[in-house]
Amino acid sequence: MLSPTRRRVITINMAAASVPPKPPIKVRPAPLPPPRFTYHQIRKAIHLLCVLVFVALPFTNLMRVDIPNQRFYFLGSELWINEFGIIFFVMMFLLFAIVATSMIYGRMYCSYLCPQMIFSEWSLSVQSWFTRKINKKLSTWPTARKKFASSAAFYVVLGVASVFLAFVFTSYFVEPRDLLRRLMSLDLHTAGGITGAVVTLLTFLDFTLLRQRFCTTVCPYGYLQGMLGDDNTLLVHYRDEKGACIECKKCVRICHMGIDIRQSPYQMECIHCGECIDACQDVLGRLGQPTLIHYVWGEKGNTFEAQAPWYHKLGLRDAKRVVIMLIILFYGFGLYAALSMRREVLVQVAPVRNELYKIDSTGRVRNHFRVKIANRGGRPANVRFDTNRLTNAQILLEDNPVRVAAGETVEREFDIAVERWPEAQLVNHFALRATTDTEKKTDDFEQTFLMPQGGK
Ligand code: SF4
Ligand code: SF4
Repeated sequence: MLSPTRRRVITINMAAASVPPKPPIKVRPAPLPPPRFTYHQIRKAIHLLCVLVFVALPFTNLMRVDIPNQRFYFLGSELWINEFGIIFFVMMFLLFAIVATSMIYGRMYCSYLCPQMIFSEWSLSVQSWFTRKINKKLSTWPTARKKFASSAAFYVVLGVASVFLAFVFTSYFVEPRDLLRRLMSLDLHTAGGITGAVVTLLTFLDFTLLRQRFCTTVCPYGYLQGMLGDDNTLLVHYRDEKGACIECKKCVRICHMGIDIRQSPYQMECIHCGECIDACQDVLGRLGQPTLIHYVWGEKGNTFEAQAPWYHKLGLRDAKRVVIMLIILFYGFGLYAALSMRREVLVQVAPVRNELYKIDSTGRVRNHFRVKIANRGGRPANVRFDTNRLTNAQILLEDNPVRVAAGETVEREFDIAVERWPEAQLVNHFALRATTDTEKKTDDFEQTFLMPQGGK
């Protein structure tokens, strides 16, 4: 027999056992702090820098091809078309650098440096800016009129921008001041003027109709990149091992190339811009979760690790990459040495042997020579000619030193007159010496002076 107190305790316990247990309260994680910089901000800062470099390069002669004058400018050196060897090696160096960069960093060139991508994104944002502003400010207008007004404003701005971009682009091939003169005189007759007009039209059509479609239809670099990548190439990659994706699709909506990075990291359209990383970071960061999309070194590779050695952070993740970087460095040094050893003033000497020698009225023996002087520098040069190892010789050249303006080539023909001497041979070796004032250099050109046998 249970006491009343004991009976009450059992009743209470049985009542408690019949109430289902409350589920544990889920504590929503605190939002993550926003990143210090987004990839979008980094890209836009680099884009601004690239535009400044793109505009400034043709005016600085750091890299430009002057088609009318057949010159190639690289790092301040003016290369003439007959110096094809150096031009070829410069081109090969640039090509090799692009290939190596693609192998290590994937399509970072497309998303961070390519002018086509920079101006396509700019034209898209200008168009949407006008649409937003006109919809807001002129909200009472009918939709068709607002659409017309925003399109008209966009086309006017793009028209002016196309003239400017075409001018800068054509300046890489025609001297900028010459091109500006043609532009101001609305020159549509000469090759330079017609080229400028055609490039303006193409630029306008490109940034109104083609934009990023150019990258997937015309540009071969995307296809080339697909062949260059390997297991350690930088990629944008989606990884969701815990099923954390909330299917918000912000990463898809933000993508200018119109793809879903969740399908595959190897889509031809993906330019590895990282905008989808920012989008996912923004959405999941509010829910206290890390982004599911990352920059990674290869599909199975790690994301950027803070504790990784510096050369891994730079992408030098295997021996192949180290060797490629060393080759580029050696190539670059070799090219620099070749450019710095290159002579600004080029002198060529040749004898003219229409007649072997002649004897003038004073009895001196004369031989005829021709010199060609090319000033490939940016300042005028004076070249003085003397003889070395030729007794009592006189150079009968009216203007000695010969003055050669910057970029000019001159030719001179002259006699060298010599008093006969008894030991003279039929062929007498001597040097024609050329001294250039700008380079402060002296060159000896080995030549022969022909005389009557025995000097008689
Ligand atoms: S998928 Fe991401 S990285 Fe690739 S192009 Fe689109 S936004 Fe850029
Ligand atoms: S933004 Fe992130 S969470 Fe949203 S759909 Fe894309 S991967 Fe999923």
